[in-house]
Amino acid sequence: MENFDLGIIGGGPAGYTAALHAASLGQKVVLFEKENIGGVCLNKGCIPTKSILHASELFHKIQNCTDCGISAENISLDYPKIIERKNQTIEKLKKGIELALKNAKVTVVKAEAQLIDARTIKAENIEYNCEKVICATGSSPRLVKGLEFDHEFLLSSDDILNMDKLPQSILIIGSGAIGIEWARIMSNFGVETTVVELAPHLLPLADIEVSKRIERIFKTRKIKFYTETSVEKVDGKNIILSNGETLNPEKVLVAIGRVPNKVECINGVKYIGDVAGEIQLAHYAIKQALTEVKDIPFEKDLTPSVVYGAPEIAWVGKREQDLEVGTFTKSQLLISALGKAHCDNETEGFIKLLSQNGKIVGAHIISAEASSLLQQVIIAMQNNISADKLKEVCFAHPTYSEGIFEALFRL
Ligand SMILES: Cc1cc2nc3c(=O)[nH]c(=O)nc-3n(C[C@H](O)[C@H](O)[C@H](O)COP(=O)(O)OP(=O)(O)OC[C@H]3O[C@@H](n4cnc5c(N)ncnc54)[C@H](O)[C@@H]3O)c2cc1C
Repeated sequence: MENFDLGIIGGGPAGYTAALHAASLGQKVVLFEKENIGGVCLNKGCIPTKSILHASELFHKIQNCTDCGISAENISLDYPKIIERKNQTIEKLKKGIELALKNAKVTVVKAEAQLIDARTIKAENIEYNCEKVICATGSSPRLVKGLEFDHEFLLSSDDILNMDKLPQSILIIGSGAIGIEWARIMSNFGVETTVVELAPHLLPLADIEVSKRIERIFKTRKIKFYTETSVEKVDGKNIILSNGETLNPEKVLVAIGRVPNKVECINGVKYIGDVAGEIQLAHYAIKQALTEVKDIPFEKDLTPSVVYGAPEIAWVGKREQDLEVGTFTKSQLLISALGKAHCDNETEGFIKLLSQNGKIVGAHIISAEASSLLQQVIIAMQNNISADKLKEVCFAHPTYSEGIFEALFRL
């Protein structure tokens, strides 16, 4: 039996981050991965989706650039090539992580591993003795009775990544980040897209005004959606909704959340990333790994949420509906107030800041570059920098960041 300081099951963002940082401290680390290094994030999640999203946006933009004085004719779409590029992107990044693990002298065992006790992991009939064990085995698409994936018509977020051609029409069940991103991808490619959401608004976890604006954007983009509606029954290729309507999409994406992968719960083992069942985001998994291995603290309440596509949607902290009326101030700046937005033809959206006692407690942004803009606010929030102090910062012009600066003066 070989001895290690740290044994990690799962080579996703949580697992490989923990492995690399523990190794940088001089620890002897073994990492078990049964499928692909990079986990869901790199192989079936964040990266492949954004690669396809990028292509779809380019396609949409090229078709809609006459306003900028450019006309493009006879544009063609080679969807298999888009999938090939997505796969190449994954391979490139995977090789990078594998090389980093090799350079850090992490022992990588490509096999399914089993937790035996708080200090023992078993894989391929070999037992590994580990001073400490981290379980980072991730999550899988949620299964719901009546909507079981058949991988042909009823697709999971894994299946949809590998379609070799685009459908004529698609129904997306669920309007969380995955549902919204795929609705945007499909609509950019000209696929007739419909979204069904059980909650009263799209993107139910967002600030109410963000949800309402996304609904408006979807209307202008001709993405059909139903709220407070569920799928009552799937009858062959007929999808019967709770409002009595029947839809006949060519494909259905079931995007109603993810569940932690089943795992033995053993005292003394540290569970991080999606398997822990807290916030299921790659950056949250990475921060948990860093806390676990290097004791770097982080404020869970300041974990950013981002939904990609044009315009990006990003938020952090309290939502307006979380706050008691009269206890907060609010400022809202329309992105159309910014010079840069007009130059880029990206005038849709707003920056909304919520403040209590002079400190920002929530930021909700719909804009190009929203993910980067939000980060500036998070740095201020985490470091207790007041809105007034933030006004002392010089923001460059013309940028979207100026929107943050302007919004501060409306608080
Ligand atoms: C379509 C989609 C888009 C997403 N987009 C984003 C995004 O834009 N931003 C974001 O932050 N998050 C996004 N996510 C979520 C993100 O992918 C996850 O939060 C992240 O991958 C979690 O990392 P993890 O390390 O906990 O688990 P995972 O990435 O799931 O990795 C777990 C690994 O453990 C391995 N494993 C499991 N059991 C065993 C075993 N017994 N032995 C050996 N290996 C095992 C698995 O094969 C897997 O590789 C998206 C997810 C999906 C599905």
